[in-house]
Amino acid sequence: DELLRLQDVHKVYGRSRNAVAALAGVSVGFRRHTFTAVMGPSGSGKSTFLHCAALLDRPTSGSVFLEGQDLTAMNERALTKLRRNRIGFVFQNFNLLPALNVVDNVTLPLRLAGRRPDRRLVNEVIERTGLASRRKHRPGELSGGQQQRVAIARALVTRPVLLFGDEPTGALDTQTALEILGLLREAVDGGEQTAVIVTHDPVAASHADRVVFLVDGQVSAELERPSAEQVA
Ligand code: ADP
Ligand code: ADP
Repeated sequence: DELLRLQDVHKVYGRSRNAVAALAGVSVGFRRHTFTAVMGPSGSGKSTFLHCAALLDRPTSGSVFLEGQDLTAMNERALTKLRRNRIGFVFQNFNLLPALNVVDNVTLPLRLAGRRPDRRLVNEVIERTGLASRRKHRPGELSGGQQQRVAIARALVTRPVLLFGDEPTGALDTQTALEILGLLREAVDGGEQTAVIVTHDPVAASHADRVVFLVDGQVSAELERPSAEQVA
């Protein structure tokens, strides 16, 4: 059961002599309730891939299908609405609002989506991510791992079908990274999310169900259930 598919996606930055083909014909599908890591050397197109998959950026050509619907055919307004309701994002540097406490950071996406903030739902996701004793703390009063937990809670609060991560363990030590990977795994195995992360981290990649390798804007290889050695 395929949730997301990129079909022959090309992304070219710039024009004529300055043109850079960041993605050069990427076709890849993502089954529901799977956890995929995208790896590749610097400049191979990983960020561009993530931005196109999440429709933060439009491909130059090709299609991105979510549940069979071609997102590249949608207007900006419809896309923004879809992103706010169906997609969650986690970043390397957490991207939390420093003036807001944990509850308010986690509640924000519901407000942005125009939904009535449901206290029960917010509390449930805060507890699930292990932040129950940190509700009133601001990001500056939390460790990196705790801040990433807040970011995951914030990404999950709208109950998105897709959870994207851009180096979500990149700023964390190994032990903390493992805890964060455990939360991503729970989101996938718990039933609701399909996760796609870009990572350089072999530990993170070895926790994925599948690793997709990009080289020069193309899929060069795929591995199912990779071992740590295979992704190092
Ligand atoms: P990665 O995330 O794997 O490092 P990127 O997707 O960031 O790769 O970049 C892929 C290629 O596209 C690189 O050659 C990069 O320099 C180029 N690129 C990325 N974004 C832009 C942009 N906004 N304008 C011009 N070139 C870009
Ligand atoms: P990352 O480690 O996330 O791959 P990058 O250095 O590739 O970081 O890119 C950081 C940001 O700069 C991205 O939004 C990317 O699109 C943009 N970018 C990358 N390369 C270029 C470039 N050559 N020209 C303009 N923007 C670029």
